[in-house]
Amino acid sequence: MVQSAVLGFPRIGKNRELKKATEAYWSGKISADELNTAAKNLRLEHWKLQKDQGVDIVPSNDFSFYDQIMDHSFTFNAIPERYLKYDLTPLDTYFAMGRGMQRPAADGKPAVDVPSQEMVKWFDSNYHFLRPEVSDKTEFKLNSTKAVDEFLEAKQANIQTRPVLLGPVTFLYLAKATKESSVKPIDLLPKLASAYVELLKKLVEAGAESVQIDEPILALDLPKEVLDSYKSTYETLAQAGAKLILTTYFGPLKQNIEILKGLPVAGIHIDVCRAPENLDDTLSILSDKQVLSVGIVSGRNIWKTDFQKAVAVIEKAIAAVGSERVIVASSSSILHIPHSLSGEDQLKPEIKRWFAFAVEKCAELAILTKAVNEGPASVRKELEANAADAKARAESPITNVKAVRDRQAAVTPEMHTRATPFEKRYSLQQESLKLPQFPTTTIGSFPQTKEIRVTRNKFVKGLISAEEYDAFIRNEITDVVKFQENIGLDVLVHGEPERNDMVQYFGEKMEGFVFTVNGWVQSYGSRCVRPPIIVGDVSRPGPMTVKESAFAQSVTSKPMKGMLTAPITILRWSFPRDDVEESIQAQQIALGLRDEVLDLEKAGVRVIQCDEPALREGLPLRRADWAQYVDYAVKAFRLATGGVKDDTQIHSHFCYSDFNDIFDAIQGLDADVVSIENSKSDMKLMSVLSNYKSCIGPGLFDIHSPRVPPVEEFKERIDALIKSVPKNRLWINPDCGLKTRGWPETTADLENMIVATRIARNEN
Ligand code: GLN
Ligand code: ZN
Repeated sequence: MVQSAVLGFPRIGKNRELKKATEAYWSGKISADELNTAAKNLRLEHWKLQKDQGVDIVPSNDFSFYDQIMDHSFTFNAIPERYLKYDLTPLDTYFAMGRGMQRPAADGKPAVDVPSQEMVKWFDSNYHFLRPEVSDKTEFKLNSTKAVDEFLEAKQANIQTRPVLLGPVTFLYLAKATKESSVKPIDLLPKLASAYVELLKKLVEAGAESVQIDEPILALDLPKEVLDSYKSTYETLAQAGAKLILTTYFGPLKQNIEILKGLPVAGIHIDVCRAPENLDDTLSILSDKQVLSVGIVSGRNIWKTDFQKAVAVIEKAIAAVGSERVIVASSSSILHIPHSLSGEDQLKPEIKRWFAFAVEKCAELAILTKAVNEGPASVRKELEANAADAKARAESPITNVKAVRDRQAAVTPEMHTRATPFEKRYSLQQESLKLPQFPTTTIGSFPQTKEIRVTRNKFVKGLISAEEYDAFIRNEITDVVKFQENIGLDVLVHGEPERNDMVQYFGEKMEGFVFTVNGWVQSYGSRCVRPPIIVGDVSRPGPMTVKESAFAQSVTSKPMKGMLTAPITILRWSFPRDDVEESIQAQQIALGLRDEVLDLEKAGVRVIQCDEPALREGLPLRRADWAQYVDYAVKAFRLATGGVKDDTQIHSHFCYSDFNDIFDAIQGLDADVVSIENSKSDMKLMSVLSNYKSCIGPGLFDIHSPRVPPVEEFKERIDALIKSVPKNRLWINPDCGLKTRGWPETTADLENMIVATRIARNEN
């Protein structure tokens, strides 16, 4: 009999209960015991939920208070020294690793001041993990029995689970060495593997029938030494006598498949949503005892699975290895999708029927499994309904809008190119904008005060009229403009008070998007996001930002910068469609933005910024696929911005990542000015700066920190930048938008930045 399996379930809770409980604990409102009780209830609820939907193999140890990768650092005692010197409880040590801790001395306890571990994106998803840190002093040993405890907790409730562990090779490949240490993390594998053996033995003793062991790095291009380490590592793990299901996901295994051949594991899981070719590849190396877990229900998107296609894939696996050796599974953990569709009553029924969130995906797994075990007749109704949903979607007028498609067909290469090369048009711009040397500007948003948020909420709830709201926004804009004039910034912004979020705001103004009320997805720790969903062809029925930007320009004689979110960021921070290529979706968004750019220009806005912070994270997992992505990503930006006159200045902005890999792509956007996060990774960026051919504003202060750098520090940074960037191309700005900051530090930061700039101007 084929069995169904889930690789990991969203832990945040239907109504973000885990977020609320952890935040209540952090602020001292509930005790550690109360927090543990809340967590225990949630775990039980989620196990039962999956069982009730009919899932056979339910995961445990997929729960985490903060991050499942950090759980492994904690479990195997990879805890950097700096967290241990305060004598915190284990739970507080754990949270200090995740979010840092700062508290004054009190009750005879010393003051605590320790930053969090480094946070990194989990492959190409929007989830962030805390990067493990190891050193030659790290002593791997079992520091926690969380995995065993949670297994037993489920068992007590009569639910047999399959514990989930992150594989040791992936753990160390993603780890970094602590600053003081020169150790190469991967060299520590033999030591770490022994600690894994200890844990696996405990799981076997506790009654675990099998253990899921995740090795997602197998979807990456890997160095030979890493690939080679699999054999010996898994031979060591085999000593524990656990039945291991080695799970891979997020992409094709390609040549990495070779190392799986003959590996002493009981089964292999593959993602056939992202990479259908994984099926044949894996069948060719599977031994005649090993189980094949077919990841056919996507853990990465919110679309219903096409049952007809899925059954065909599963049948193929059964034909090859027999039904006793096939598992039907989610492609990856379904942590990446919202909890459930129930309660989303604002969605039109004709669109809602296309979606499956986490709970619904569990039901899909059960149906597919029944279909292959008992024959299609046993689930005829479900199969028919699924086919009808798919047909309705394919035929829906919103998924194929003729006007949008015609416009795409008429896009010409010239539309991607400014009329005049950078050097020449930039001097025209400087003439018309009358900017000084080292022009100063900000990234767009100013503090989103409580008053702004409260007033927006009132407007959304209908408690104040559109006129009242508009008047409020105009007031805010006027104040922010006056503030910028007073402190002496050169290119002003309107401050973005009308925006809830830089993607949602645009999604709400365009056709082709829908929104959930409760579709939260964990981004990191207790932070969740609610991504818009792209359901159809995207177009822009009318101006989105012109009213605010034109008003802002009307209250100042200084240049006002219009502010847009660029195509890839809108696409990446939404759930994209799975029925058309992402390049096509990006182009549709770009065409809408192109109209907006031209309307802004017509309204007298002469500087326009298109933020593209997500450009880096869109890079595919394999280098061989980068060129194709960069090509459409760059084209989309250029299509959005390429239609303006020579003396309209195009800006772009980048943050949240390491840019070395995409510096050429950034240059390829042909923006006149880019601002780029820099203050936290100074040296990394410096090496490439001098190669940049247009204007650049490396961020001068970290907007995530309330600390205000003194004038001298700003001046030092400017001096350092002048060494790499030609003087006539250097712009002065912060790292990113100021919306999360308060007014006092915003004022102090900008004042110091401007004083330092004036000194630099005098000296140069
Ligand atoms: N213009 C946006 C802001 O200032 C940019 C935000 C971002 O890059 N994340 O808030
Ligand atoms: Zn930014």
